[in-house]
Amino acid sequence: MKLINQIKVHQLIIWFSFLFFQLKSQDSISYFQQEVNYNIDVQLNDVAHTLHAFEKIQYINNSHTTLNFIYFHLWPNAYKNNQTALAKQLLKQRNTTLYYSKPEERGYIDSLNFKINGKPVKWEYDKDHIDICKVYLNEPLNYKDTIIITTPFFVKIPDAKFSRLGHTNQAYFITQWYPKPAVFDSEGWHAMPYLDQGEFYSEFGSFDVKITLPKNYVLASTGDRIDEDDEDEFLNNKVIETINHLENNTRKRDGMQFPASSSQTKTIQFRQYRVHDFAWFADKRFYVLHDQIQLPNTKRIVDTWAYFTDKNFDLWKESITYLNESTLFYSFLNGDYPYNHVSAVDGTIMAGGGMEYPNITVIGDLNNAFDLDVTIAHEVGHNWYYGILGSNERKYPAMDEGLNSFYELRYIKAKYPYKKLSDYLGRDSTFKLFGLNTIPYWKDKETAYFISAKERSDQPINTASEDLTQFNYGSIIYSKTPIVFDYLMEYMGESNLDKAMQFYYERYKFKHPKPNDLATTLSYFSGIDLKWFLNNLILSDKKIDYKLSKVKRQKDGSYKLIVKNKQNTVIPFNVTAFKNNKMIGQVWNNGFEGKDTVAFPIADVDYFKIDGRDLMPDINRNNNFIKTNGIFKKSKPIKLKFLAQYDDAKHCQISYIPLLGGNYYNGIMPGVLLHNYSFFEKKFEYKLAPMFGLKSKTLAGSGQVNYHIYPKNLFQSIELQSNLKLYNYDEVDFGNTNKLYGTDFKTFDLTYYKFTPSAQLTFKKKKQTNPTNHSINIGSNILFIDSVRIENDLNSSYYKANLYTINNSVNRIIYLIENNRIINPFNLELTVQQNAHMAKAFAVFKYKLNVAKNKDFGVRVFAGTFLYGKDWAKEYYRFRMRAHNGSDDYLFESNFLARNLNSNFGNTQINEADGYFKVPTPLGQSNSWMAAVNLTSPNFYGFEGFLDLGTTNPGYLFNDKILYNAGVSLHLFKGFISVHYPLLYSKDIKTVMELNSIQAIEKLRWSFNLHKLNPKKFIKNSLF
Ligand SMILES: [Zn+2]
Repeated sequence: MKLINQIKVHQLIIWFSFLFFQLKSQDSISYFQQEVNYNIDVQLNDVAHTLHAFEKIQYINNSHTTLNFIYFHLWPNAYKNNQTALAKQLLKQRNTTLYYSKPEERGYIDSLNFKINGKPVKWEYDKDHIDICKVYLNEPLNYKDTIIITTPFFVKIPDAKFSRLGHTNQAYFITQWYPKPAVFDSEGWHAMPYLDQGEFYSEFGSFDVKITLPKNYVLASTGDRIDEDDEDEFLNNKVIETINHLENNTRKRDGMQFPASSSQTKTIQFRQYRVHDFAWFADKRFYVLHDQIQLPNTKRIVDTWAYFTDKNFDLWKESITYLNESTLFYSFLNGDYPYNHVSAVDGTIMAGGGMEYPNITVIGDLNNAFDLDVTIAHEVGHNWYYGILGSNERKYPAMDEGLNSFYELRYIKAKYPYKKLSDYLGRDSTFKLFGLNTIPYWKDKETAYFISAKERSDQPINTASEDLTQFNYGSIIYSKTPIVFDYLMEYMGESNLDKAMQFYYERYKFKHPKPNDLATTLSYFSGIDLKWFLNNLILSDKKIDYKLSKVKRQKDGSYKLIVKNKQNTVIPFNVTAFKNNKMIGQVWNNGFEGKDTVAFPIADVDYFKIDGRDLMPDINRNNNFIKTNGIFKKSKPIKLKFLAQYDDAKHCQISYIPLLGGNYYNGIMPGVLLHNYSFFEKKFEYKLAPMFGLKSKTLAGSGQVNYHIYPKNLFQSIELQSNLKLYNYDEVDFGNTNKLYGTDFKTFDLTYYKFTPSAQLTFKKKKQTNPTNHSINIGSNILFIDSVRIENDLNSSYYKANLYTINNSVNRIIYLIENNRIINPFNLELTVQQNAHMAKAFAVFKYKLNVAKNKDFGVRVFAGTFLYGKDWAKEYYRFRMRAHNGSDDYLFESNFLARNLNSNFGNTQINEADGYFKVPTPLGQSNSWMAAVNLTSPNFYGFEGFLDLGTTNPGYLFNDKILYNAGVSLHLFKGFISVHYPLLYSKDIKTVMELNSIQAIEKLRWSFNLHKLNPKKFIKNSLF
């Protein structure tokens, strides 16, 4: 079925529905919104960084509900202490700036004295949030009644480093700064504390604001300036000055220094109608650019203004062009801009981002002109999706951030069609690494979505801001939303979608549209039921995976294709035919569950592809393709690439990295790492590192294969994993000492083989933002180690040394509870190890007690016991008070440079295990039970004090009941390598040391901490 035709047939119906919808919606919906009109007089004190203000609000009740109180937002109080919702959210996002801020850096609002129609009223702070209050009315406020609410207020402006309101020295970013009634709509009150992740919802009305500040400040603000000739001249002079600098390529002297403030002040008045917020920015250093544009539909003239500092002078040269073009772009696609000016302010308030307010936006530091253009376009676009279409952003972030990002995506596609993803890293198309030079830039959004979707950590688009993880706020709201709308546009056709959005804009401007309003509008305009879009792509996190499984050419030259829906998410898809790598035709299908055939008309085709232009968010594009000829219709050429590759569905990719390993027994080991890891998690992943030991002259190395399963219930993921390791671990030399035994003796190289099949089961979380993770790992350490036995050869009367293999396999099960919060994180690991000869259980609890920024006391508690075991096995698998060195590591878990070398450097490498004493002591070995506590002090320039205490069953200590040692650790390369030196220890340990005449230098221990390297985390962190 060709849906393209179907849409054409529907054109008439669309226009009928359009008329019908317009008639129907106007009289049948009992929509209302409150009206709030503000008069604010505010004075900036730029010495104390405070605001003194008086506010007068006209509140009109348009609801049929009689109101007895009004909720107010007092959002400067979000910065008041480290217990506010803002402070808690920042902590959740591992940001401690507000938590550990100094009192003088924080901010607040006070001096409130609410009066209604001139009479004092009772008001109180919300009991959970000090940035919300409830103002009780003297008399009930009935339908269509109006009251005047007044209050003075005082704001201490916080440091700008926390969130959106703030100052950096004498640069002021005055946003969310005045007492503001919360929204009351058909759902009731929407009182909400201020958050960083999660935006706003406000009532429309008018603002009349008078701002008083020293005369030499440049003031950029929401609203139109009222009758201020002096200020016009002041700004015009700034513009002339800026243009002179631009033309002569000169700059201000001491451009970033704050000039002294004039002793005289000025008061500038701004007015704006039909907006729901008011923000202003003041800086004495600003360069100013000004231009005008004519809107495409109404032909109205709009002023554009850019304000920037010397620091970003070069970057902002073209900023006025970006403002002009993006305002025209959004006006053209959605409907004309209804206000008189569009302004952008350069501010350091948020690194790399931007923040929108009516008429005006603040832009953080950016790397290049492209980023600035796109960021300005995005923030300008918020005038439509946030400003004019005032949805509840907190609850439906996709309604503003998501839709706005869709237009941002279109802006990039239209203006920068040849931009590549390598630009993301600040590199051009010559940057061949990872293959990023071949991927269009606009795929950055798809990339972010796939990162979370392919590992199944994504969330539905229709999720409230505060319920999204920080990564998903970006990868779902800003990334998945634009790509699913882009796909909807592919399906509906661009002009249909634009008509729908233009209607949506006209119908809902200056209102509070809800997701359903958007859905209904789109349905009417596509003329098609869009339930599939809403249910599968917006309301759920369902994944899409169609597969082209067979192709057959019919006698008449047409094709029959078999398509499988592997995820059973039914959405329309297209099958596209290619000849000489060019699209020659496309067939749309409405989608189905299971398997079905798709017919393709007579054509000469090389290959077919589902979703020919890669616009559908199909989580497995590897199976979207089939050739029409040949035996291996789905075969793909192998592509061998250095380091790693961006995923490419057309090739079988293998990446290689040359390696150089080494240990004492194998010697230096050149080798190569072959893997298929990429930006996204794959169902099947492998890494193989074959190496050759130059000393042992044998093959060595390791490898790992992973297979991911994503169950519907209970578990978030199940990862089946197999590790393989093959190295030499010791050498036995009979050459000199055992001549006596005859000539069959020699040096033996001992090898171990380890194979570790396991299943890692990660439990699903009820709330994705919960920082606690639960998982179980069930597996087996299948371990074969070489050993040497001396035997009497009866035939020859010689003694012979024979190499034989011991099986030391152990099964294990580990339950892990992990909480990675930034303040006081902890984890608990419960382990049982078992084989035919013994079973032991032990627990490790780790806790970090945070005392100051990046300063923690560490606590580690270890307790273990044997459950059963033969005596020799309990001896072999014994607990040790000391951290494991190579020969203690009975499971061959860690990589030791010289596992069994008992001299010099050999046994100085340790691994965290058991009692984890850093002092090298044979004391405290137990075939029964053991308990230990390891304490560490906060880190100072890499140095950390440690104290280890431990006890075990009697008989294994000399006289001491409790063994201890204390000393200093030095952590290098962010903890990648640690060095430990004991300074104090128990009497008995000291005695043994003296007995064995251990030298001072021999007490030094060090460790590798490979787990500190996590490439996946690195990729995720670098995206948002
Ligand atoms: Zn945005």
